[in-house]
Amino acid sequence: MTGPVTMFGPDFPFPFDEWVSHPAGLGSVPYEAHGASVAVIGGGLSGTVAAYELMSLGLRPVVYEASRLGGRLRSHEFEGSSGVVAELGGMRFPISGTSFFHYADRLGLRHDPFPNPLTPAAPSTVIDIGGETSYGRTIEDMPHLFQSIAKAWESALEEVGFTPIQEAIRARDATTLKRLWNELVPLWDDRTFYDFLSASESFSQLPFRAREVFGQVGFGTGGWDSDFSNSMLEILRVVLTNCDTDQRLILGGAEQLPRGLWALPVRPGSPWPEGTSLASLHGGVPRPGVAAIDKDGDGRFRVRDRWGVERTHGAVIATCQSWLLTTEIDCDESLFSQDLWMALDRTRYMQSSKTFVMVDEPFWKQTDPATGRDRMSMTLTDRLTRGTYLFDNGDDRPGVLCLSYAWMSDALKMLPYDVDRRVELALAALRKIYPDVDIASHIVGDPVAISWEDDPCFLGAFKGALPGHYRYNHRMYGQFMQDGLPPAERGIFLAGDDVSFTPAWAEGAVQTALNAVWGVLTHFGGSTHPDNPGPGDLYPELGPIDLGE
Ligand SMILES: Cc1cc2nc3c(=O)[nH]c(=O)nc-3n(C[C@H](O)[C@H](O)[C@H](O)COP(=O)(O)OP(=O)(O)OC[C@H]3O[C@@H](n4cnc5c(N)ncnc54)[C@H](O)[C@@H]3O)c2cc1C
Repeated sequence: MTGPVTMFGPDFPFPFDEWVSHPAGLGSVPYEAHGASVAVIGGGLSGTVAAYELMSLGLRPVVYEASRLGGRLRSHEFEGSSGVVAELGGMRFPISGTSFFHYADRLGLRHDPFPNPLTPAAPSTVIDIGGETSYGRTIEDMPHLFQSIAKAWESALEEVGFTPIQEAIRARDATTLKRLWNELVPLWDDRTFYDFLSASESFSQLPFRAREVFGQVGFGTGGWDSDFSNSMLEILRVVLTNCDTDQRLILGGAEQLPRGLWALPVRPGSPWPEGTSLASLHGGVPRPGVAAIDKDGDGRFRVRDRWGVERTHGAVIATCQSWLLTTEIDCDESLFSQDLWMALDRTRYMQSSKTFVMVDEPFWKQTDPATGRDRMSMTLTDRLTRGTYLFDNGDDRPGVLCLSYAWMSDALKMLPYDVDRRVELALAALRKIYPDVDIASHIVGDPVAISWEDDPCFLGAFKGALPGHYRYNHRMYGQFMQDGLPPAERGIFLAGDDVSFTPAWAEGAVQTALNAVWGVLTHFGGSTHPDNPGPGDLYPELGPIDLGE
């Protein structure tokens, strides 16, 4: 039996999508625990998924949010437009993220193909590298070198057994998948993406230029040289689980997902009355940001908010980026082992900046009479802008131009500048590629820009694990299994993008939230239904390989 490629493993091949959609539900907690209070730090996707499921189990989640509900799913609505948005955080969601889409579908969110380079949704692409510009609609329209690079990438992946692993994912054959993946983990944990390319037989037959071009054009979604220093394991997870293909754009903005969960009535059969929602439990608004966490003499968690108000809870789920547990939150050190603190603090975040403008119409679709080409195209370049994306909201509505989406050093170049300067810099770079297009004349409304690393509530865009980080990932990911922990370290659960093995993909935020839900469920003496075992029930058998210390 074979199905679609989904984000099933590879480290922990547990079917999260089946667990959340099973008619038996996620499990139950004893009657005495109904209404027990659980602090959920962060109202992003991970926090709202966790809080929604805890509420459905009959617990009382108390969501604390320091900034804005939605977290890194932030859809900025341009002033005066109705529903024209810029996706400042997550914007393209692979259909392989089936737990993410479980919730998106429950909320009835509509989605379209994301206008990625060389896909029909773009609809045309310009690749401008080293001062040379190529135009096309598919890879076949591009110079021969690009096609050789695409082929080299495919064969480089085959050198490490890509197809058999994907077949095991399709078949949901956890045993085979673990056997194959577990062989790769010790081989590639220590080595970078760049090392993988340069050592591969396929790329070593091509000139250096091939690696440069690959760094700009990537494998589906745009430039990947920003990831060259990352652990190769991280890149393998992305491609093996098809994160980089078949991506969707949530119409009206991805922020609707966490906000929708906030308002969604509790699952049928919950101990809470029908119609109860997170919003109704909170009087409409989350509690303020958390300033301190420790335990009282009875082993309950004392959570102090930024205004000094203290509340006690029977358990805590922390979904904010892990660095914030040492910067924003005075987190009692005894809540985690020193090994775990090491992992939390060694987490490495990638930087990311985006600059958007709203434009009067999707002018890029006009044909340039001189060349017969689109006036402007989805653009990948080695210039300052790196990736320029075009969002067409229909001929009668304003369009949106993501002038620049950049990571790492390219994002840092933008960090000191205000939004107007960022727009000027981006326009100047694009003018060199499109000398005859007056982009500025189409801009309407105020531009918007973001640097996630500049915000104390995030300190970075998302995790990007470095070589040697597998053990840190493993410690953080497996922290929801608390049986072997000393009592002082029990009852607080980590979740969110940076706890996941697939950072930068919202699916990881959902899956780790579900791990934490299982952890809280068992912490309160509950259990899963025998027909629907949860992640912790199968973790001893399917959990990530232990590389030892
Ligand atoms: C630029 C960018 C591009 C991305 N692109 C994609 C993409 O294309 N596809 C994809 O699938 N994913 C993408 N992602 C990843 C995706 O956005 C994340 O995986 C997901 O939104 C993370 O959700 P989370 O709940 O784990 O964390 P967050 O969204 O960060 O939520 C944590 C929350 O904690 C809050 N917080 C911080 N400190 C405190 C405190 N002291 N007290 C209380 N609350 C606090 C924060 O304000 C935040 O709201 C992207 C992310 C970024 C930044």
